[in-house]
Amino acid sequence: MENTLDIKPITLEGVSLKRPLVIAGPCSAETEEQVMNTARELAANGIKIFRAGIWKPRTRPGTFEGVGVVGLPWLQRVKKETGMYTAVEVATAQQCYEAIKYGIDVLWIGARTTANPFAVQEIADALRGTDIPVLVKNPVNPDLELWIGAFERLNQAGVKQLAAIHRGFSVYEKTRFRNDPQWQIPIELHRRLPQLPIINDPSHITGDSNLIQEVAQEAMDLNFEGLIIESHECPARAWSDAKQQVTPQHLQLILNALVIRDHSIEDKPRTELDDLRMKIDELDRQLLSCLGKRMQVSEKIAKYKFEHSITILQQGRYEEILQNRRMQAEQNGLNPDFVVKVYEDIHEESVNRQNNVMKELSKK
Ligand code: PEP
Ligand code: MN
Repeated sequence: MENTLDIKPITLEGVSLKRPLVIAGPCSAETEEQVMNTARELAANGIKIFRAGIWKPRTRPGTFEGVGVVGLPWLQRVKKETGMYTAVEVATAQQCYEAIKYGIDVLWIGARTTANPFAVQEIADALRGTDIPVLVKNPVNPDLELWIGAFERLNQAGVKQLAAIHRGFSVYEKTRFRNDPQWQIPIELHRRLPQLPIINDPSHITGDSNLIQEVAQEAMDLNFEGLIIESHECPARAWSDAKQQVTPQHLQLILNALVIRDHSIEDKPRTELDDLRMKIDELDRQLLSCLGKRMQVSEKIAKYKFEHSITILQQGRYEEILQNRRMQAEQNGLNPDFVVKVYEDIHEESVNRQNNVMKELSKK
């Protein structure tokens, strides 16, 4: 089924759809006071949509799992006193009913929930007959079909005000970011569903308040429609995601520093060539990150060799690598001679680095 979605723009009166659409608020609603203090500051800075998690899907039990329904009247108060629209995460039909009962304006589906078609279907069924905007985070695993499937389920239940949230993908290895952005996935989503707005979540991608600016800028350069950023009156004391939250004042600095380089997608449609170039950029980023990691492992090998008095160059191992990589080249549709040429350079650099490590170690 290719692009049969019937998507309507999100219409919240008074909210301009000019890029970037900004949604901000704490990871979790903790207390009425924390919610109100944060909301007042954000509203004073012109934020129009307030987010707060009421039910929190946590990786391990025993951590704060959200205040639950008692937090919904706090959000009603936010709406009444600041005029901001409110958004919460829902993961079950019951949570949808509660959120709607308390006049929540926007719902979002969390990354762990998007990964589960039964849960998404349950939410879609619960929302049948409503016209509430729903934002769907990417699934934790890098599976575009699963993400698109969630939009289809909601759309088939009559939910038309839809948008995607790109929050990055879970990886086992430790990287600079909490969740790997894999920009090629939202780019491909845009190619497949050009009418669907995409909002970037630099908070959950980076996991680090110091890196939000950089990722938010990248999202703007890639023509994303909006940003959802976690903001807390006092991030250091937050009950969840403390490291990645920013004060409302810090958020303002981030937003003011953003350079919005392009017009909206309607003004200047991105061509397929732009999409393909973005894919190349992303693949190169992965290639170089991988090469950097390879060099680090190589230096660890040097240390091992030093400690065990083994020579750096071992011809047998090098031959084995070349032979094996030739085979892998073919499996990946690459010319083996080209791959061997690349490996000769990589190997040379690797040997140089091992030599440097050995020299440093022998000085000690
Ligand atoms: C959140 O937005 O606080 C959240 C739980 O995010 P995610 O589903 O992206 O992990
Ligand atoms: Mn969070």
